[in-house]
Amino acid sequence: MGKRTINDLTDAEVRGRRALVRVDFNVPMDDRGAVTDDTRMRAALPTLDALFARGARTLVLLSHLGRPKGGPDPRYSLAPVARHLATLTTRPVRFVASTVGREAVEATTTAAPGTILLMENTRFLTGEEKNDGALAAQMAELGDFYVNDAFGTAHRAHASTEGVAHHLHPAVAGLLMDTELRFLGDALAHPERPFIAILGGAKISGTIDVIDALLPKVDALLIGGAMACTFFRAIGLETGTSLVEPDRIDMAKALVSRAGDTLVLPNDAVVAPSLDAGREAHAVARDAIGASEAMFDVGPRTCGAFAQRIIGARTVVWNGPMGVFETPPFDRGTRAVAEAMARATAAGATTIVGGGDSAAAVDGMHLASRMTHVSTGGGASLEFLEGKVLPGVAALDDQST
Ligand code: ADP
Ligand code: MG
Repeated sequence: MGKRTINDLTDAEVRGRRALVRVDFNVPMDDRGAVTDDTRMRAALPTLDALFARGARTLVLLSHLGRPKGGPDPRYSLAPVARHLATLTTRPVRFVASTVGREAVEATTTAAPGTILLMENTRFLTGEEKNDGALAAQMAELGDFYVNDAFGTAHRAHASTEGVAHHLHPAVAGLLMDTELRFLGDALAHPERPFIAILGGAKISGTIDVIDALLPKVDALLIGGAMACTFFRAIGLETGTSLVEPDRIDMAKALVSRAGDTLVLPNDAVVAPSLDAGREAHAVARDAIGASEAMFDVGPRTCGAFAQRIIGARTVVWNGPMGVFETPPFDRGTRAVAEAMARATAAGATTIVGGGDSAAAVDGMHLASRMTHVSTGGGASLEFLEGKVLPGVAALDDQST
């Protein structure tokens, strides 16, 4: 069942009204309070523009920032984020130092039409993460309707992402949220085939449910990253000092026997004595990893084999880097996957990148615009791929049929 979006709102529901918009402005900042990556903020701009274009009077934005512990902490104030937002839009932007309460509500009702208000960090309130009903009701007073555009936090049932939607209607998806749900949802529900998934990253433990959920759907599941080492152990190979999760080896064994040919492991590895010994990096077959070496990337033969499968696919979903891409020369596997996906996109395939580190890697290689979709939600996109219901999405109004 689809969720209502801001495009489904009637004029009467929007015109002259205050839109309460949950955005994901949880952005990295430097010591001086300058935003160092505003991707998430720019991703929300189409929703803000669309609301004004539909005649909304005032936009009231809620977001969390970081993980303040039990109360207000100036290090996590959204004030610098409001200043940055002012540089991204021609609309007047005002920061409101409270999040809810009399003053906050007053700010929303007295603001000049066309103003964007950014309220202080929702996590300064202890009820936020507890999804406190009274706090959610207070948040509902800040607007006349609710828009959730924070896909990246939709897997958390917090007062500003889930609770508030029970107190304020209409409650609809913003454009970014809608795009995320459509790309990830369609890829899983009606994939054009061949449909392949590529999983990497540090740990098998965080990804096991994704593997389980994807295996029956995909034509091939390519495994890279440190995760591959746990699978190597499962098939009886030595992995030297590589990152392995010993308590997951049995699970990996079960997956290997269940998946058959669908699960594709690397056939070679780039190894080195340590991460800072990049000059000693060399490629070995996967059954030749030395006792005092660790695998930090997939090897060149694997890059070629993975690239070939990717280029031949019609739908590609990727989560998790193939190696320690932050530390060259161990970025080659990740680069090979990203470049092959860019070629697949150009050939008409649907290519989707999910996961914080994978998205950062693609961005760093300037390949983001050559993917069909790069998800802004790390944990949320993983839970979506697992087939879980995202509480922040479930709470929104259903589209009438
Ligand atoms: P994402 O954020 O895209 O979901 P993860 O957080 O699961 O990805 O994993 C990313 C991390 O995995 C990166 O920091 C990368 O350095 C690390 N990693 C990948 N391959 C290896 C490896 N072979 N050994 C150690 N760490 C690895
Ligand atoms: Mg990560």
